[in-house]
Amino acid sequence: MSLISSADAQRAAARVMARCDALAEISATAGQLTRVYLSPEHLRANACVGEWMRAAGMAVWQDAVGNICGRYEAECADAPALLLGSHLDTVRNAGRYDGMLGVVSAIEIVQFLHQHQLRLPLAIEIIGFGDEEGTRFGITLLGSRGVTGNWPSTWLAQADENGVTVSEALSLAGLDGQKIAQAARRTEDIAAYLELHIEQGPCLEQAELALGVVTAINGARRLNCTFTGQAGHAGTVPMAQRKDALTATAEWMVAIEASTARHHPQLVATVGSLHCAPGAANVIPGEVRLTLDVRGPEDEALAALLADLLAQGQAIAEQRGVRFSTEEYYCTHATACDVVLQNALTRAVSAVQGRSLSLPSGAGHDAMAIAERWPVGMLFVRCAGGISHHPAEAVDEDDVALALQAWAQAVSELASTLAS
Ligand SMILES: [Zn+2]
Repeated sequence: MSLISSADAQRAAARVMARCDALAEISATAGQLTRVYLSPEHLRANACVGEWMRAAGMAVWQDAVGNICGRYEAECADAPALLLGSHLDTVRNAGRYDGMLGVVSAIEIVQFLHQHQLRLPLAIEIIGFGDEEGTRFGITLLGSRGVTGNWPSTWLAQADENGVTVSEALSLAGLDGQKIAQAARRTEDIAAYLELHIEQGPCLEQAELALGVVTAINGARRLNCTFTGQAGHAGTVPMAQRKDALTATAEWMVAIEASTARHHPQLVATVGSLHCAPGAANVIPGEVRLTLDVRGPEDEALAALLADLLAQGQAIAEQRGVRFSTEEYYCTHATACDVVLQNALTRAVSAVQGRSLSLPSGAGHDAMAIAERWPVGMLFVRCAGGISHHPAEAVDEDDVALALQAWAQAVSELASTLAS
């Protein structure tokens, strides 16, 4: 039994949709949605969301890193908070639900408590993070890292494409780069973090479910790889005597596809870029440089897959008489969602839609940064066709209503269990 009736949830969902539409109008580009960190549009979105928070009975402030924050007090003053949040920045030509859906849905939960004059054993805080996507400065999670305190001061010198540094952009937004540390919260002030987000993938749609519970946010490893063979005349070198770097690459790519599927259904591997030299129709390829991106919800399984793929690349190279080398240039660990939070979310989702689905997140989220300090849980909402980072991004209003019911139940249950 959810805190919010389905009729109330339906009305709240209509408001959520309208507010996502309103936020989508706050854009740097006419006819598209682009809203980057510390831009005038970001500050306008903060002001707008701050007004909604205030109307829901929250105390509102903008923190030192540019996040918009609201607090709804508990039964007792100064209680720790259950933190709800997501981001308000976007990619270029974005959809209107990625990030924003989580922020405006959270406001509806507090709005409901406020309307019914309910107080929970924990305070409820909401944060609309200023930067998750990293669109402007090429570094990500600036908002949530500000809250954890893991915000390296070297970021201040990072410049956008116009040469404006983070430090200058903070000043232009009325903030002070020397005071970023003030955005960091004390560990004891926050009990846990819950994020509602669109899935950005097709799994819920395929399962014909509106809601799912996230088990982990995928870790990722990226490598530059090279097959080096011998360039030669396409007309004169017999097939048996060739050291073709591209056919070695092709064989490896097919092996990557087959092996990854065999290792675990939740692991993914992609060769996304490939440069073939010398790259002429009448020359046997002498060198191929390619990238390999592998992701998965568990670091160990991901490492085992990667080791297997690299061993196969080596074996293929040896068999074909070419050289194989790799260099890893990017590694993020998988972020596990907290089991207590997952269980509460699973109960709540099962209550409103009959059953729940647990799934990993293939995309990164603010919860990755927050997990460095606090337990995190995530609720996924189905999005049409799994499409995201695109204007066609869409969610169903009925799904949002279900999400609000589940969210409210999980929040009220966790506010009791985590407080005791
Ligand atoms: Zn997002």
